[in-house]
Amino acid sequence: MIEVVEAMENMRLSDYAGYAYLAATVRELKLETQMLLPRLGGRTVWMVNSTADGGGVAEMMPKLVGLMRDLGVKIQWVVIHPSESAFFSLTKRIHNLIHDFGAPGFTEQEQTLYERVSRDLADEMQGRLGADDILVVHDPQPLGMGAELKRRTGIRAIWRCHIGVDKRTPATASAWDFLKPHASVFDHAVFSVPEYIPHFLVGRAGIISPSIDPLSHKNRELHAHKLIGILSNAGLMTNHHPVLTSHWQHQAQRFQPDGRFLNANTGLKIGLLFRPTVTQISRWDGLKGWEPLMEGFLRLKARCAQGDIKDARHKRRIEIARLVFAGPDPSAIQDDPDGREVLHSLCDKYRRLNRDEQESIALLTLPMASRKENHLMVNAIQRCATVAVQNSLQEGFGLTATEAMWKRIPVLGSTACGLRQQIRDGIDGRLNHDPEDTDEIAENLNQMLFDSVGRDTWGRNAQRRVYDRFLIFKHVQEWLERLSETAQRPPSTTGLQR
Ligand code: UDP
Repeated sequence: MIEVVEAMENMRLSDYAGYAYLAATVRELKLETQMLLPRLGGRTVWMVNSTADGGGVAEMMPKLVGLMRDLGVKIQWVVIHPSESAFFSLTKRIHNLIHDFGAPGFTEQEQTLYERVSRDLADEMQGRLGADDILVVHDPQPLGMGAELKRRTGIRAIWRCHIGVDKRTPATASAWDFLKPHASVFDHAVFSVPEYIPHFLVGRAGIISPSIDPLSHKNRELHAHKLIGILSNAGLMTNHHPVLTSHWQHQAQRFQPDGRFLNANTGLKIGLLFRPTVTQISRWDGLKGWEPLMEGFLRLKARCAQGDIKDARHKRRIEIARLVFAGPDPSAIQDDPDGREVLHSLCDKYRRLNRDEQESIALLTLPMASRKENHLMVNAIQRCATVAVQNSLQEGFGLTATEAMWKRIPVLGSTACGLRQQIRDGIDGRLNHDPEDTDEIAENLNQMLFDSVGRDTWGRNAQRRVYDRFLIFKHVQEWLERLSETAQRPPSTTGLQR
């Protein structure tokens, strides 16, 4: 089945333009649209993906579609609901293989399942499409349907692939071999990062970066009272004054030395508002480099205790510094047993630390019952960071880095592919060249915590970089450029064009 999704964000461009710091970028988008919109010639754009809820694509889609509509683009959002549940298990396997995870190879049954479901979906979709419309399918799930429609009707079609890794292995090769006959028939393909383009599309695919919404709950500005209100409501600080709103039903939890998770404001105090704080917020995924980061932080503390740090003020800074790890409550994410395991092993490691070390590290889980509250917590915790770290061993893009950069928080990333697209080492932040090298992590943290002028500069440049390249307005603009180019050319009959 296919479903046309109507629920759209109600943010309008005029809401963004009301903020002085966003007015210029919105104006630029509007000017560009005046030029590009006529080239679209009144065609309807169909954006198709596989879920209306959960995951980055689903989060971005209503904003993208909502803003494009506000600009006058005729655009519809469609979600596919395949009739056979095995289809999504297969596409999940493809997804994992593209990320170099899982056993390579597909059976004939899998091939026929993918083709059969794609054909059924195309049967349903075909009647809705006008001959001049533009079809955009996202990721491998609706790719086969898009290819089938392209073959049947010759419609202009774009494949937007949000996933990839910057290496070629037997696993990635087998996923791309599977997708190649489908991906090759489109007019264009779009990836997030050049390194993710598979060999058969090199030179024939474009790049559009993921983006953030500066007015979302995760990114909007928080004035002091609001920030403190969130920390209080979420149980992230103890507060002796009344605040406007009452405690949220679901509180942030902190892992305690006795092995229990309790409300984060019980027991040891975090001191988010007072202490130099090194913060990493991510999913509980082993590839996020949690363990080496913890070890690197403890190494820096140990160096300080051994008298390695001479400057008195800096010594004090390191002595009172805290490391905050925060991620979603894994029990809220049914299909993520790996997440629970990763958190479990971090907790084990934490229990083996001495009392001082335990006091200096906070392992936090953030409830997911309310998306809004979860996002406000992420926002507030990021804003309390002296240095935000994203120590990923591998990273698709790393929106957590983008979010911190937008907030002018200096970021220590790694050279994982998605992060080095965003952070230029020494300009927009710093990079760990080896996220498993705990000495390098300790030294980079040491330098960043010492250098307050550098932190200001990295934060300022980082915000500018996000403003220029990774805000939703740029994202919309890049789509309009791509769509108007596609509209102006005759639809391809021979596969992907430059
Ligand atoms: N995030 C969140 N709640 C949490 C922890 C993380 O909303 O409790 C968000 C985080 O702010 C970011 C996203 O999850 O927007 C993670 O995206 P990223 O690109 O950093 O990594 P991914 O999870 O896609 O590997």
